[in-house]
Amino acid sequence: MCGIVGFTGKQNAAPILLEGLKKLEYRGYDSAGIAVCKDGVISVSKVSGRIANLCEKTENGANMPGHSGIGHTRWATHGAPTDINAHPHMSCDGRFSIVHNGIIENYLELREELTAKGYAFRSQTDTEVIVHLLEMYYDGDLKSAVMKTTSRLEGSYAIGVLCADCPGTIMAVREASPLILGIGVGENFFASDVTALVAYTRNAIYLDDGEFAELTPERITVYDCTGTVIQKPVSRITWSVEAAEKGGYEHFMLKEIMEQPRAVKSALAPRIQNDQIQLDDFSFTKEDLRGIKKIVVTACGSAYYAGCAGKYAIEKLCHIPVDVQLASELRYGEPQIDSGTLLIVLSQSGETADTIAAMKECQSLGARVLAIVNVVGSTIAKLVDNTLYTWAGPEIAVATTKGYTTQLSVLYLFAVYAAHTMELLSQQEYLRLIRELQSIPQKIQQTLDMNITLPQLAKKYNTGHSMFYIGRNTDYAAALEGALKMKEISYIHAEAYAAGELKHGTIALIDEGQSVIALCCNRHIAEKTMNNIVEVKARGAQVLALAVKGDRAVLAQADDVIYIPGLDPLFQSVAEIIPLQLLAYYAAKENGCDIDKPKNLEKSVTVE
Ligand code: GLU
Repeated sequence: MCGIVGFTGKQNAAPILLEGLKKLEYRGYDSAGIAVCKDGVISVSKVSGRIANLCEKTENGANMPGHSGIGHTRWATHGAPTDINAHPHMSCDGRFSIVHNGIIENYLELREELTAKGYAFRSQTDTEVIVHLLEMYYDGDLKSAVMKTTSRLEGSYAIGVLCADCPGTIMAVREASPLILGIGVGENFFASDVTALVAYTRNAIYLDDGEFAELTPERITVYDCTGTVIQKPVSRITWSVEAAEKGGYEHFMLKEIMEQPRAVKSALAPRIQNDQIQLDDFSFTKEDLRGIKKIVVTACGSAYYAGCAGKYAIEKLCHIPVDVQLASELRYGEPQIDSGTLLIVLSQSGETADTIAAMKECQSLGARVLAIVNVVGSTIAKLVDNTLYTWAGPEIAVATTKGYTTQLSVLYLFAVYAAHTMELLSQQEYLRLIRELQSIPQKIQQTLDMNITLPQLAKKYNTGHSMFYIGRNTDYAAALEGALKMKEISYIHAEAYAAGELKHGTIALIDEGQSVIALCCNRHIAEKTMNNIVEVKARGAQVLALAVKGDRAVLAQADDVIYIPGLDPLFQSVAEIIPLQLLAYYAAKENGCDIDKPKNLEKSVTVE
């Protein structure tokens, strides 16, 4: 999720690796490490915390001589951010060292297999299986060991390999994680992005999924997944460092919006194995789940809105009442909570002060807690027994996007898992829901691909006045988050209303030219919202509707329509929010706002 670098050449590798890692710091990380090979011996240095600590430990690389090496900045997904869990990881025989970005989805079964064969695991990471597989498959042929190893891996990975038997050679493998090769003169490099390369070269080869490469100081050989040598075009890096940090996007927020198919896949795919949902850190038995009388979801901001959207799926599938409460309210209220309550807390950072306080209050009243957080080893994760990480990777823009969609995806997953465990679903329904969940990343991608007119729509509906977001049920939940996005980054006042509530007061505010965003994606209730479109149009509003592809009725009512692909209505909000994020983004851009750092806002709200 964070960064890897590799170097082979005539100079000492360690200082170059450290410089490269510093360039990747902007991606966020919790630990760092390097490994270098000298005279057939690999040495490793790694620390939790800052790269500065690693520089100190290695005397800026001076105490680690060697001309080839690999480096890593870690954003923990499996195992706390400790020195031991930091990369590189070594094989038991000391012959291999590897760095890895991404998630190995089938690591548990591989770990079991390797442990049974006598390989001793030192860390809690998913990554460590890779290095033991390499040792197991190595028979003197590094390329063949790499191919056999990767054929066993499921998930996303950019891997760097160092082998003591092949000093001067580094290997790089890519599957669904970024990896770029840098071509120097008498030296070659790899890195997660070009920021780490530009100080040394501007000639690069972009690896595609399934490809791997062998780098020596003189040569780079790229192979496809069958091991056949392939010729790859050499690209000239023209991006500035600043543009490269954002992956060529103008803002981190846009980059993170575009990353959502991958982020949501990271949250879901490792937990769906062989048509079964397996929750990695959730210890509730069938009896425990059946004993839950009510579920309270508590969070702040967008995480609270993820709870509002997830409530529908949990109530419908699990038949347990769900009460979604703002943490800042819950902590000072009189929560009716006891040992029959499951408290679900949501927080991207795992450090949100109000959420922590509300959680402690509920724990003291006897509630059992499930935390859904992104940052491994964060305060919330440490304080609870059951934590499901969202595995979204670091989020740099202050306004959350992938943080929200991954939280929501994990809530859906929980709902289906709990309903199945309590035997509330037929096998057929369970499988159908699993297929729906598995389709979410692709549906998000389709949503991104389908909506190229959003910049123009943002211009049309950004009239300088406030905006109304209306919808019912899951559409209403998405409206809440959509309106918050608009407010926080574009500074346009936007409010979400349950569409049925308009006539109880708010409709008085609708005048000529008022922008209304009408969410009509939940097929069970969209027709009712269409009536509300007619009502606001009759009062002069201009209406931008969101609907599921194929819904032609909405065209007759709204001024403009954004289409998204259909999902089970229970899961629809996760795709529906995507165009709303983009609408807010383009409106903010038009208003000249500082999109990644909106005024008065902090990424992690650690104060009350
Ligand atoms: N999943 C791996 C770990 O937790 C790699 C994380 C990363 O990409 O930094 O160690």
